[in-house]
Amino acid sequence: MPMSDTLLEVKNLRTKYRTEDGVIYPVDDVSFRVKKGQTLGIVGESGCGKSQTALSIMQLIQKPGVIESGEVIFKGENLLKKSDAQMRQILGNQMAMIFQEPMTSLNPVFTIGDQIEESIRLHKKGLSNAEIKTRAIDMLKLVGIPAPEKRYEEYPHQLSGGMRQRVMIAMAMSCNPQLIIADEPTTALDVTIQAQILDLMRKVQKEFDAGMILITHDLGVVAEMCQEVVVMYAGKVIEYGSVEDIFYRPRHPYTIGLLKSIPHFETGERLQKLQTIPGLVPNLYKLPEGCRFRDRCTYATDICAKQEPGLENLRGIHRVACHNHDKTRGPNEIEGMAR
Ligand code: SF4
Repeated sequence: MPMSDTLLEVKNLRTKYRTEDGVIYPVDDVSFRVKKGQTLGIVGESGCGKSQTALSIMQLIQKPGVIESGEVIFKGENLLKKSDAQMRQILGNQMAMIFQEPMTSLNPVFTIGDQIEESIRLHKKGLSNAEIKTRAIDMLKLVGIPAPEKRYEEYPHQLSGGMRQRVMIAMAMSCNPQLIIADEPTTALDVTIQAQILDLMRKVQKEFDAGMILITHDLGVVAEMCQEVVVMYAGKVIEYGSVEDIFYRPRHPYTIGLLKSIPHFETGERLQKLQTIPGLVPNLYKLPEGCRFRDRCTYATDICAKQEPGLENLRGIHRVACHNHDKTRGPNEIEGMAR
């Protein structure tokens, strides 16, 4: 795909928090690219820096956090050089965010219609009230809300969790964003509703030919939705590749551990025994010397305690940060992962 299809390029992004306990980098030298119409997954356990990366892209980091260095190139322009007013224009008009729990983002005292209209009014100037209402109802129809004219008059508490998530998506899409950032959009939903919402997100993404960053701890969702995947650990990108690289040729022990901890069928019949990764994501204030995954890694050798591994190119776009990635090849390649 030619370079001109790149919608967003994040280059060496570092976000710093200085607190009484010291200085931490929840986003530490993170780089990746999102193309038009493509979905990039960011995966990792809680506390790996996924949401902080999304907030840094949108410049929504709260104090005492600051973006220390790097670039966020969106449609050829560095967002880190934009003023707050310019960023507000971009957020909503060209970028939209879908959060995990819509109840925290929807205002309980306003109707669904009021809230979607507000979003349209903010970002689409010059429409009459009647046009705004028609567009709001059209958006509710687009996201598959039955009886949209009736739902338009209702309050968030009158809707189910799945319906509220659809309303969030309708609000996010009401301004035809070119980049959608979805942070655990289906985590709070049951499996059937999750499948419907994922289908819906694919549909609206296709409708607007938007790029999407999908943040999730759920590799099943990644397999369903993404073309490329970033695996993060303790603020760092530790593996990056196509969805095939990550699912069929994983090379970082952490990625391999994540894959072994989700259910999948090897032959269509037999459920593989699930494993967990021992230990916890390290406290960013007390990172171990060398590799950050060292305390949990069964492949660790002496060099892992002395030197932090950098990302090395493998095949195509596949990159991994592990001193011993040669040893993880072969037996760990997971054949027949259900997708
Ligand atoms: Fe494990 Fe060493 Fe690779 Fe880190 S660098 S993941 S400790 S083998």
